[in-house]
Amino acid sequence: MTRHADLPDHIREIVAEIETEIGEDAGFETAIEGAAGRHPGANGRVEAAVREILTEIGEDPDRQGLLGTPERVHRMYTELTAGYHVDPDRLVNRAIFDVDYSEMVVVKDIPFYSLCEHHLLPFFGTAGVAYIPRGRVIGLSKIPRIVEMYGRRLQVQERLTQQIADFLQDRLAPQGVGVVIEATHLCAVMRGVRKPGTVMTTSAVLGIFRSRDKTRAEFFAHLERPAPRP
Ligand SMILES: [Zn+2]
Repeated sequence: MTRHADLPDHIREIVAEIETEIGEDAGFETAIEGAAGRHPGANGRVEAAVREILTEIGEDPDRQGLLGTPERVHRMYTELTAGYHVDPDRLVNRAIFDVDYSEMVVVKDIPFYSLCEHHLLPFFGTAGVAYIPRGRVIGLSKIPRIVEMYGRRLQVQERLTQQIADFLQDRLAPQGVGVVIEATHLCAVMRGVRKPGTVMTTSAVLGIFRSRDKTRAEFFAHLERPAPRP
């Protein structure tokens, strides 16, 4: 109950959503009746800074359409960086199982949204995650949550990719891990540095995904295969 006490309620909700399954006890109250509005603990510094930015770019922060913008921007950035507050132990809580299975587990087409730390603009796309267990597996629904935990931070795509791989390596000690992320960066697209629609691909391979060409090739083949339609 004391953990996260200093966070605004709507951020605690997001954190709880990432950490826990639907219907699972989040361990603290998430009721937010009457909490929509000002964040508790907001000190106005972000709002003041956003007003400064608006003024600097030649806008009038007091015109009607912009009056609520500083507070909305503050709220938005807190939401988009809620991943900093996710407790990885709670996220994997009771979802690592001893299972005698040693074939590749692949979860792909995981959508994510993140913020580029160089421009504070979104980059977004999909992640494909695979591992080959060594006696331990993680609940399938946890893998998109791991992506979300690291995605809701200021990131560069390369580090996001590596952190997901390292997390699984650390928690499962599998035979190997592979992560591929394909993303579009608005800082590149909107500023015309690259052609619109350009997709950046990053990968991180650990263990036998790194040492065995055959394993790596199998992983990439899985990613290219279209998903079965329900
Ligand atoms: Zn950028």
